[in-house]
Amino acid sequence: MDNTSFDYIIVGAGSAGCVLANRLSENGKYSVCLLEAGPKDNTPFIKIPAGFAYFMFSKKYNWGFDAKVDSTIRNGQPLFVPRGKTLGGSSAINAMLYIRGQREDYDQWADLGNTGWSFDELLPYFKKSESNSRGDSEFHGGQGPLVVSDRPVHYNISKSFIEASAQAGLPLTDDFNGASQEGAGYYQCTIKDGQRCGVNRAYLKPALARTNITVIVEAAVNRVLTTDKVATGVEFVKRGKVITLNANKEVILSGGAINSPQLLLLSGIGDQAQLQQHNIELSHHLPGVGHNLQEHADACILVKSKNHQGLTASLSGIMRMVPDTLKYFSNKTGKLANSVVEAGAFFKSREDLSRPDIQLHMLPTLYDDSGRDIKLMRSEGYSCHVCVLRPKSTGSVSLKSSDPRTAPEIDFNLFSHPDDQQVMVDGLRLVRKILAAPAFDVYRGEEIHPGIGAQTDEQLFDKAKERLGTVFHPVGTCKMGIDDMAVVCPELKVHGIKKLRVVDASIMPRLISGNTNAPTIAIAEKAAEMILSTADND
Ligand SMILES: Cc1cc2nc3c(=O)[nH]c(=O)nc-3n(C[C@H](O)[C@H](O)[C@H](O)COP(=O)(O)OP(=O)(O)OC[C@H]3O[C@@H](n4cnc5c(N)ncnc54)[C@H](O)[C@@H]3O)c2cc1C
Repeated sequence: MDNTSFDYIIVGAGSAGCVLANRLSENGKYSVCLLEAGPKDNTPFIKIPAGFAYFMFSKKYNWGFDAKVDSTIRNGQPLFVPRGKTLGGSSAINAMLYIRGQREDYDQWADLGNTGWSFDELLPYFKKSESNSRGDSEFHGGQGPLVVSDRPVHYNISKSFIEASAQAGLPLTDDFNGASQEGAGYYQCTIKDGQRCGVNRAYLKPALARTNITVIVEAAVNRVLTTDKVATGVEFVKRGKVITLNANKEVILSGGAINSPQLLLLSGIGDQAQLQQHNIELSHHLPGVGHNLQEHADACILVKSKNHQGLTASLSGIMRMVPDTLKYFSNKTGKLANSVVEAGAFFKSREDLSRPDIQLHMLPTLYDDSGRDIKLMRSEGYSCHVCVLRPKSTGSVSLKSSDPRTAPEIDFNLFSHPDDQQVMVDGLRLVRKILAAPAFDVYRGEEIHPGIGAQTDEQLFDKAKERLGTVFHPVGTCKMGIDDMAVVCPELKVHGIKKLRVVDASIMPRLISGNTNAPTIAIAEKAAEMILSTADND
């Protein structure tokens, strides 16, 4: 390596890291180095939208963490925590649904003392990042790098879901990201010309022609180097060799909500007692690192189908996909050019609420265990997944070992707050109501799960936990704020350490009401502007 000093060193080429690498190198004044633990995104499965399923089994492109659970959840089997490990990070393996959350989510961030982070202040960054196929409007951008498109609807069951929601007396919407989120509708996706539009494609690749940007893959950062509470660089390992880089201006951690707190802890920044336990030299006592972990708990209703139109891992199901496979490889259209989740909804679990507190994902398949239960998927069926949008339960990411190669301990602590249980149960009842509507008559077979035996709140909740999953939205572990447990300030600078920021999903003080890719990109857009606004003075 020729250069060992850069103005900005960014750790992690995910949703936030690629945005930063582009924006910080844009004016040509500063040198930027982007370090990514994973390999290049060379597999074709990243480009093919339906390739999503492949990554649930990949060890190369997915960190594939496990989270501990108590014995009542999935019979004590750990929860699978997929995270992208390649250029593009989790945006390279995600389901591509484009959702921002609700105005109130960001207004709450601002109310917590995070000046500058209200919805009205963040909306310009959502719009800056976005190129919506519907064009510019009050709520959408039409010129940004991230392509967001309406998708053709391929599965009849997606249409039936919308019809059934209306039959159940629920509202419909044609834009989850407009003035109001509430309703059932079709998801817009980050898909461009039939191929995934992750952040590598949207932000990083267009910047690579610049001479002031260096990207190093298969570079796992072990720790941030600090001297007298100032970040000076990072140490990483590439092909077994330990390499040190110096940062003239700043080190920016964009490793995501699991890895960024782990990296801070490995660097001696975190709770003193935890660091002592692992014999890590203290750089700065910051008790909030790794706490405040939030995630969308996901429960499902699985129903067998009389109608053979869905996605099935049986021989006949595979044969049904042949025409679509040919279509995709001839002109990038058909089912493979879509996310398998075409329809969904944001509803209130109880009528007296002022805004939606559950999100639904409708799948034309029997989907459980993050799509890894292939045996289940061999039967014809469909599933509707409910998630608790604003969980009150919080968990943590902590060290299992001082060895950076050892995965951290992840404990979502799901349902530790009783209010989350009630939301989930009410959500499942609402889904049952939708699935009982006439639009589903042509499909409806046996309810495999929770099963008609589960009728009381307690029975429904117990059953929900048996097949509990998550929507892969961990956030909050390096929370932005001004209280004692905050890790970064509203400018995303780590409290107590100079020249070190965290910019990724981990900084969200509260989980937003929806999928987290677009919000993470908007966070990075805003962060880049904040960083550049003082760059010449630093
Ligand atoms: C399977 C799945 C499906 C999802 N579906 C959707 C969806 O449909 N819509 C949506 O909006 N959101 C979805 N999400 C969530 C969304 O993709 C994430 O919230 C978002 O990508 C997080 O961005 P990030 O920058 O915080 O982290 P990431 O994008 O995960 O990036 C972190 C990067 O840092 C790298 N890294 C970590 N540690 C180190 C280290 N020590 N050294 C070097 N590099 C390191 C990682 O390899 C990774 O590339 C999904 C996520 C997953 C995993």
